[in-house]
Amino acid sequence: MSDQYDVVVIGAGPAGYPCAIRAAQNKLKVACIDEWKNLDGSYAYGGTCLNAGCIPSKALLESTELFHRAQTEFSAHGIKVGELGFDVATMQKRKAQIVKASTQGITGLFKAAGVTGLQGHGRLLSGNRVEYTAADGAKKELVAKHVVIASGSVPMELKSVPFDGKTVVDSWGALEFDAVPKRLGVIGAGVIGLELGSVWRRIGAEVVVLEALEQFLFMADQQLAKEALKHFKKQGLDIRLGAKVDGLDRGKDGLTLKYTDTSGSKTVTVDKVVVAIGRRPYGKDLLGDGTGVEIDERGFVKVDHECRTSAAQVWAVGDVVRGPMLAHKGKEEGVMVADLIAGLVSEVNYKVIPSVIYTAPEIAWVGSTEEEVEKTGRPYKVGSFPFMASGRARAMEAPAGFAKIIAAVDDDEILGVHIIGAMAGELIAEAVLAMEYSASTEDLQRTIHAHPTLSEALHEAALAADKRAIDFPNR
Ligand code: FAD
Ligand code: AMP
Repeated sequence: MSDQYDVVVIGAGPAGYPCAIRAAQNKLKVACIDEWKNLDGSYAYGGTCLNAGCIPSKALLESTELFHRAQTEFSAHGIKVGELGFDVATMQKRKAQIVKASTQGITGLFKAAGVTGLQGHGRLLSGNRVEYTAADGAKKELVAKHVVIASGSVPMELKSVPFDGKTVVDSWGALEFDAVPKRLGVIGAGVIGLELGSVWRRIGAEVVVLEALEQFLFMADQQLAKEALKHFKKQGLDIRLGAKVDGLDRGKDGLTLKYTDTSGSKTVTVDKVVVAIGRRPYGKDLLGDGTGVEIDERGFVKVDHECRTSAAQVWAVGDVVRGPMLAHKGKEEGVMVADLIAGLVSEVNYKVIPSVIYTAPEIAWVGSTEEEVEKTGRPYKVGSFPFMASGRARAMEAPAGFAKIIAAVDDDEILGVHIIGAMAGELIAEAVLAMEYSASTEDLQRTIHAHPTLSEALHEAALAADKRAIDFPNR
């Protein structure tokens, strides 16, 4: 006999597991199936984000940034240390503990919420049945009123530079190095390439980043991108733009990457290569015959604005559907779907999704870039405030960067906020909330910000939009 559920979720990454928990909170009977296996062969909930993405990368970024600051900033505080050293094994052990605590937390959350967690493979069959294959190969059929697909994404391969799991690796491989590579080649200057390049650069690798596009961080406000490039270059990241990688030679001296830029064919020789050219939706053996779920030409499950697929009572959320491949975007979609299934009102505001790059300085933004606003033709105003003028930033030895706010001239609505500087990823939350409530710069101007805090930079930027900044000359 088949097991009956109100909701079966396939995938327990940051899109799937919140969906399962919210559905259970909504008093529905829920199962969540996940097949993620770690390098030691053990199952773990949490998907890419917890096991091989957001969390381990932030753990390594934290360790290496502390090392970098000890090298470059401690003396300014009067802190005297002996010769600094770095132990990669300890850093990796700490990272593994953080990942384990996070993924085991989901098992606890499932238990507390009453979600049946099933580790193994899930496959949607026609008639809203789901075939579950356990680790030992035993199969079971689950029947669900609603099925939510949250199968995520995997790294894209570059055919001319194939992964070998050792010297040419994906982002997961680059999180697992057990020693600092002497020369590291990173293909792709996207968010992942820059974060991983920064990790290994800070602890001594010579890092060259090859990016096919001429424009650096094309998706970001270009004033931010320019400032970021300046800092990354100063840190010794050798970022080569307009450099399209199209081959690899293995020789005695290492791995020679071949690339083409405007001046012709070039090469660079390194010891390890990280291919970080993007991710593609994952759906291996996910759909049986006759499910009615349509997939687009790029492999994404087709959904409407409420994450409904083309099959009745089948939904899809997270990286496997259109939109930015971000954990928090997937989480909100998962929660929305669980509420919609329960008959509640819910929606995701796709216009107000923050983006964060966890480099140093951090980069964060929400809403439109100045380039995008300019294209609309709507008259706009810009207010900026440099962290150099913030007492807190100076006290933190973190004067780099600025906060920038773009607002409409006609009704003062905030259209975009862009921050580069210390804690930008935390500071952007205020801008997200402001935009969620359609706030104006005047609303921010009239909101009291504690002194001295970095958050005053956004306050002053809002004032500067009307040439009323106090702590920096208005232009
Ligand atoms: P996933 O996290 O990929 O989870 C899908 C799960 O479904 C997996 O466990 C998979 O094994 C399972 N699955 C798939 N098919 C089946 C099946 N048929 N049966 C059973 N289980 C199945 N995003 C951020 O927002 N912030 C960051 O800082 C950030 N950093 C990142 C750093 C790196 C190095 C990488 C690679 C990604 C990062 N991301 C970050 C992106 C983020 O990890 C993804 O957007 C997020 O994990 C997507 O969530 P998801 O639930 O849709 O998919
Ligand atoms: P993202 O999609 O943010 O992860 O970024 C991936 C980056 O890799 C993009 O900026 C692409 O332009 C870049 N990219 C893709 N293919 C190549 C290639 N063959 N050589 C260099 N860069 C590439």
